[in-house]
Parts: sequence; structure tokens; C-alpha cells
Amino acid sequence: MAKTITLEVVTPDRKVLAEEVEYVGAPGINGEFGVLPNHIPFLSALGIGSLYYKKDGKKRYVFVAGGFAEVSPTKVTVLAEVAERAEEIDLERARRAQERAEQRMRQQQEKIDHARVQAALARAMYRMKTRQQAASEGGI
Ligand code: ATP
Repeated sequence: MAKTITLEVVTPDRKVLAEEVEYVGAPGINGEFGVLPNHIPFLSALGIGSLYYKKDGKKRYVFVAGGFAEVSPTKVTVLAEVAERAEEIDLERARRAQERAEQRMRQQQEKIDHARVQAALARAMYRMKTRQQAASEGGI
């Protein structure tokens, strides 16, 4: 039985990563799910959060927002709307995005699209969390 599984993460713009890994944990729309080699096939929509994988015993983190994950016994294909490896995340940019979103939330204007502001805030928070998780495990 194979001990690794291929993980591929792509966005409409680029290939984010392709690696042979030992485990994948991903933020499904209905909660996190985990995949080991030889998993039964399934398809899940993705929420906003940290995807992580284990390679050579180390955990690596990737921020993902929206899209789908397709799982087969040999491969996990993540088609994300947006994705960044932890080391690519610009923390300052995420902080600025968080401030903008919080400022908009405080404005009591009817024309504000609250779902959009909530999603922007969630992206900013999870980008920061993804970087912190990676940094705290020595992955950056
Ligand atoms: P911002 O308001 O800073 O643009 P956003 O959440 O609206 O943030 P997205 O629409 O999620 O941005 O992403 C647009 C593009 O910018 C994507 O290619 C994404 O990977 C990249 N991106 C956004 N924020 C960051 C960040 N903090 N670090 C690295 N890349 C980022």
C-alpha cells in the first residue's frame, strides 16, 4: 500500500504546489476533513481556512478560500479560488485588510454588503492564523 499521496493545489492563476505527502487536513465547508493515502474517493467544497499537509513528518500550511477538493486513493486535487503557501502570506497586507473590514463593519450604512465584509475579514484572520501556525512549528 502506498505510504504517500499526491497533493496538488491550484488556483485559476497558478499552480500553488504539487507534493508527495503523508497526510492532508483541509477546511471543508462542513468542517475539517483529513485524508491518508488510499482514501475512498469524495468531493468537498472548501471554506476559508488553513489546509495543512505532513511531509517527512513535518507539517506545512497553506491558506485556502473557496473552491473544491477532489480526493482519490492516490491524489488530492485542490481547486481553490485563492490559495497561498504560508511563506507567501504578506502579514502586513492581511492586517490592513482586517482593519478595512472592521472599519466597514462599524459603518452603519445600508449599502454595505455585510456578507462580503465578513468574508474579507475571515480571509484576513485566517491568513494571519496560517502564518502563525507555520511559524510556531518552524515551517517558515
Ligand atoms: P486584499 O484586500 O489585501 O486584496 P483580499 O482578501 O481581498 O485581500 P483576495 O481576493 O483573497 O484578497 O486575493 C487576491 C489576490 O491577492 C490573490 O492572488 C491572493 O493570493 C493575493 N493575496 C491577498 N492577500 C494576500 C496576502 N496577505 N498575502 C499574499 N497574497 C495575498
